[in-house]
Amino acid sequence: MWLDGDASHKSAEIVPTASLALLPLRSMSDEAATTSPANDPSLFDKIVNLSKRRGIVYQSAEIYGGFRSTYDYGPVGVLMLRNVKDAWWRAMVQRRHDVVGLDASILSPPQVWQASGHLQNFSDPLVDCRNCGARERLDKLDDPEQCPSCGMKGQFTEARQFNLMFKTQAGPVEGAGAEVYLRPETAQGMFINFANVQYTSRKKPPFGIAQIGKSFRNEITPGNFVFRTREFEQMEMEYFVPPAEADQWYEYWCNERMQWYLDHGMPAEKLRLRPHDADELSHYSSGTSDVEFLFPWGWDELEGIANRGNFDLTQHAEHSGAKLEYFDQATNEKYLPHVIEPAAGATRTMMAFLMAAYDEEQVNDDTRVVLRLHHRIAPYKVAVLPLSKKPELAGPCQELFAQLADHFMCDYDETQNIGKRYRRQDEIGTPYCVTFDFESIEDRAVTVRERDSMEQERVPIDELVGWLAERLA
Ligand code: ATP
Repeated sequence: MWLDGDASHKSAEIVPTASLALLPLRSMSDEAATTSPANDPSLFDKIVNLSKRRGIVYQSAEIYGGFRSTYDYGPVGVLMLRNVKDAWWRAMVQRRHDVVGLDASILSPPQVWQASGHLQNFSDPLVDCRNCGARERLDKLDDPEQCPSCGMKGQFTEARQFNLMFKTQAGPVEGAGAEVYLRPETAQGMFINFANVQYTSRKKPPFGIAQIGKSFRNEITPGNFVFRTREFEQMEMEYFVPPAEADQWYEYWCNERMQWYLDHGMPAEKLRLRPHDADELSHYSSGTSDVEFLFPWGWDELEGIANRGNFDLTQHAEHSGAKLEYFDQATNEKYLPHVIEPAAGATRTMMAFLMAAYDEEQVNDDTRVVLRLHHRIAPYKVAVLPLSKKPELAGPCQELFAQLADHFMCDYDETQNIGKRYRRQDEIGTPYCVTFDFESIEDRAVTVRERDSMEQERVPIDELVGWLAERLA
């Protein structure tokens, strides 16, 4: 089957013009991880505590003592994680005519992973400490001689390759033919559907396929809260381009992706783009850069952007026998598109947003904890707060909630005094609190308090939706 470009399909051009020089581009050696003043080591514990206290992230199976490295997203966290994914989808799919979405299966047969190279190569070097039995990932140790658990030197076993894929079986009969794998990345679903998507969406390169979903890796050393877990969510896009245009699209996507984090409130001094050294590159990649965030333990990866050549389509064409070349009617050429892949972690990115937004400030004798989240990422946009629980306020205030909830994700809170309720909303980053008081019944107006400045303004109820929409746009 030829993948036929539709000559009648002419879309407005998206041109790779931005230059990498525009963005903070530093190599690892430029700046030691610990030298930045923005790097607060106590931040990690504060985020873990806040997450538990405010229903952002809970340890999974906590009532059974907790299941290591798995987490559940609570009422506030589920909203925030969804907002991270929605913000990515909006930028990568909704606002682009050259990218379409996909939701591929999590389970897939061994052939897919044979072709992609994961069965042979998706492994990390595992060492055991003979002294204390700790299992470590050799390439992540600061000192390959010393065990970080017991401190003994020279006790590690020879490194052996440990495959990170979770294997299970499909159907009731065990044995050959029943083996399936939980995907360790979402990318392969997009490669194996390249022909389907190209044909049905009538796109021609350059075009992309984007996907958000769960991935599973049997990590040797999960940790740092939701930074590295065995079950996590990814946001990946495969951008298929004519081979001659690969380098310029790689630059374009490095810039686009950096800009996305900045646009959503990440401070520039906590973000950098780190090009991989030649010895870090996979054999098929002609360039990879990581978007890195300054975590409390130092710079670490949020997203990788890779120029993958035609490796993936070549592999799947060879193993499946399908013809995956694209035929360009305009130039009469057929070629295997090259792929630029921005691959980000949704759960890891959410944690970075929490850390970037966390702030403490002195207000009178009190310390105010506030998440200065970008409005798009904030779990709730508005909190509706009746000044008292008395029915004459609760009734109309609930009506107001219903009116606002039609437009925005709103919280409704009537417990404790108003000052405490403001603080609770500050801690989960709610941009606006709307207080309905006894005067509101008479003057049909409410007090709106803004999170960052704490300034208050009286706004007529009739104008409230428009007032908020303008500020939350
Ligand atoms: P790392 O070097 O941290 O193991 P990676 O380079 O193997 O990550 P990729 O395969 O490029 O990661 O995956 C793309 C993104 O998916 C990563 O940048 C990260 O945000 C996220 N990710 C990968 N592994 C995990 C994990 N175990 N837990 C949470 N997020 C992850």
